[in-house]
Amino acid sequence: MAVNPPKIKVLLSANERLQKLKEAFHGKYKESPLFYACAPGRVNLIGEHIDYCGYAVLPMAIEQNILAAVSVNSSQTIQLANTDPKYKDFTVSVNEITIDRENPQWHYYFLCGVKGVQEQLGLSSMTGISCVVDGTIPASSGLSSSSALVCCAGLVTMEANQKTISKVLLAETCAKCERYIGTEGGGMDQSISFLAEEGTAKLIEFNPLRATDVKLPEGAVFVIANSCVEMNKAASSHFNIRVVECRIATKVLAKARGLEWSSLQKLGDLQTALGLSLEKMLDLVEEVLHPEPYSREEICKILGITTEQLSKNILSANTHHNLICRPCVS
Ligand code: ADP
Ligand code: MG
Repeated sequence: MAVNPPKIKVLLSANERLQKLKEAFHGKYKESPLFYACAPGRVNLIGEHIDYCGYAVLPMAIEQNILAAVSVNSSQTIQLANTDPKYKDFTVSVNEITIDRENPQWHYYFLCGVKGVQEQLGLSSMTGISCVVDGTIPASSGLSSSSALVCCAGLVTMEANQKTISKVLLAETCAKCERYIGTEGGGMDQSISFLAEEGTAKLIEFNPLRATDVKLPEGAVFVIANSCVEMNKAASSHFNIRVVECRIATKVLAKARGLEWSSLQKLGDLQTALGLSLEKMLDLVEEVLHPEPYSREEICKILGITTEQLSKNILSANTHHNLICRPCVS
């Protein structure tokens, strides 16, 4: 049975953060919010950088989240403000939503969520939304503030338009639409943001997306330390380079095994197609790939494609100018 995001009544007077947000909202729009929406950040316990290869991961949600106070407006605009002054106000007509991945400012993440849910629901006309966002997840620190923001925006759009989407579909929708900002993530962050439950980590598996409780040991404490080194994933190519390295490895290995490689994107799908164990996959990597860096020319030669085809069909927009040079396994 599809599980929908819960709607809960909260006593505002018992929640200082909500009260402050309500005041900020009133100061901005001279009215009270109609509803609040919230999506948590996450920490990953096992499985870094393998969700986009199709493999299972083990994250859990954290208390820190993105919270939004929302009302609907009749001006057919998305009006965005933020309690943190470093994130500037932004307004756009509901009919003119564009996402500038060259300039990944905060409001574009929000618009990713709006656009994703709009497309999922097939909404030809959307209600105007006025919103103040308040976040407590340290940004660009690996706790997935970006996905929490996209997921929160997806929830806001769904509720403002008086629709219902199941949590699983919301997770899949938000995983897809966060890619509009340019980062080609695998879906772990959006999945745990929607499917997390208190007191348990979740084994997240893909295709089809499912989440299974992994009870943490009684009394276990996780210390999540902030190194204070920030990495803005959409503004740099580091994240996507790893994604396309794995994609290229998939194709090179598939070609070596005589498979139709052009439609294979993920190592997990290659493993399924070959029917191999993980150990045998490692043997395949050792046998086919060399540890020295690969050049763009060598990859093209192996796959029998032009550099234009490599750029167009395999690389992401922000890796076009980065040579793929690291060994494909580490
Ligand atoms: P993370 O590891 O936190 O997901 P990303 O680099 O993927 O890091 O995303 C960080 C971006 O998310 C920020 O640059 C900002 O645009 C957006 N963001 C994060 N937190 C907030 C917030 N509280 N309000 C508005 N935007 C936020
Ligand atoms: Mg992120």
